[in-house]
Amino acid sequence: MPLAYPPFKSCPCGSGRSYGACCGPAHDGSRPPATPETLMRARYTAYALGNVAFVLNTWHLSTRPTTLDLNDGTRYLGLRVHAAAGNTVDFTASLKLPGGERYSFRERSRFEEVGELGGRAWVYVDGQQYGDEQEVEG
Ligand SMILES: [Zn+2]
Repeated sequence: MPLAYPPFKSCPCGSGRSYGACCGPAHDGSRPPATPETLMRARYTAYALGNVAFVLNTWHLSTRPTTLDLNDGTRYLGLRVHAAAGNTVDFTASLKLPGGERYSFRERSRFEEVGELGGRAWVYVDGQQYGDEQEVEG
């Protein structure tokens, strides 16, 4: 079950906006993400809130895993979007692993717009991680 997250609290994706004005409408279906970056942010926030259904539903059928466990104790500490161009988003996500250590990784994700005209939606295809790094304070 996804956590109920108060709409007035700041969005976990780090946009500086409230959840209700940022990723919330993507999660409740009232405003599907219009760009790869908004989808990427909404997926990050879904990971942070344990919203397995949203993560799987926005995953391209050709690369979607059959199951996903978001209850392993990983905490999502922050997201930085470096660049969004065309169908790619370059970002760094910071995590706290179940064992307690902090970890951050940089990834370039690829997205694709699928569906019929009028019902088109962005989905996540895959991502290439590079520059794996330990979290550095500051
Ligand atoms: Zn957000």
